[in-house]
Amino acid sequence: MEHEFYMAIALNEAQKAKELGEIPIGCVIVYKDEVIGRGYNLRMKKNNALAHAEIIAINEACENMGDWRLEECTLYVTVEPCPMCTGAILQARIPRVVYGTENKKAGCVSSIYNMLSDERFNHTAEVISGVMREECANIMKDFFKEFRKREKAGYIFDFDGTTADSSYLWEKVDRDFFKEHGMEIPSDYGEKISTMSFYEGAVFTKNTYNIEESVEEIMEQWHKGAVHEYERNVELKPYVVEYIRFLKRKSFKVGLATASNPEFYLPVLKKYAITECFDAFADGKLGLPNKEHPDIYLKCAEMMGVEPENCTVYEDIPQGIKSAKAAGMRAIGVYDEKSAGKADAIKAAADGYIMSFKEELDVMTDHRKEK
Ligand code: ZN
Repeated sequence: MEHEFYMAIALNEAQKAKELGEIPIGCVIVYKDEVIGRGYNLRMKKNNALAHAEIIAINEACENMGDWRLEECTLYVTVEPCPMCTGAILQARIPRVVYGTENKKAGCVSSIYNMLSDERFNHTAEVISGVMREECANIMKDFFKEFRKREKAGYIFDFDGTTADSSYLWEKVDRDFFKEHGMEIPSDYGEKISTMSFYEGAVFTKNTYNIEESVEEIMEQWHKGAVHEYERNVELKPYVVEYIRFLKRKSFKVGLATASNPEFYLPVLKKYAITECFDAFADGKLGLPNKEHPDIYLKCAEMMGVEPENCTVYEDIPQGIKSAKAAGMRAIGVYDEKSAGKADAIKAAADGYIMSFKEELDVMTDHRKEK
């Protein structure tokens, strides 16, 4: 049937909106068996409350016709038009409107008002409803189901080596520490203290290398050196700011899960103005077991109010990936210079591996468009 033929084209337009994360509504305007205008909802993409499918299609049709009147045209739209679009239909003198499914909350063609058959206006239009109703309704239902699911999803970022390019930092702090004590840093030092807590590392260092200062003083020196470095020199990885801002805009929850402390990571997040993007900070201050255990990820999920199975964790070390998996989460490995040698172990344990957050951003945005 003719109506179904054109409604299928409108549905195809709706699909384009869906792929951009927009509410999936599509529209075509037909003049003498020819599509002269088409559009899909672009309200978010254009940051414009007026960018409804019908308005975009009417704009295009008027341009193609070289006329503000679309007197012999039929407008096909997947969802019953809102007050604005019904007004635009009247303004453009469109004589016939065919829609798919009703819009109980905003429809002004039959649901809330019957604006197109109200004789008090100087123009009325014929209305045909329910063409491919099920298909038009389903694409909306699927979209909102997906959207609600997404609202309940969370993304958890490790800090050092994943969000920030700071893997070099503790090595530098250690090197400076030994230099100040007139020693070369032992080649196996980093490996030896990697699994120790701050305190354990200080005790080990004092006893093994006969450092005169107390354990507290050693910790104080490390702390000062690190804060200095974080505040001045640590940078976030490419595209991580754009990605985190994107997640927040899409109403996902965002969390930080790190053994580090706020005095280290906060100055960096503040420098990039993304502190407000985080819904939760599960950090070293909570005194949870280290990342050999899933506790810190589970705590972060709890703080975000998201179920573990709806969480994605970004980590640059194999232990982090394994623990995130043990927490029942999806885990994505992130390339870092320091852990590059362990990339195979990370890939084997993870659900994915990325070289940069640009890949994640592309998957969520541009790639959808190309599909
Ligand atoms: Zn509208």
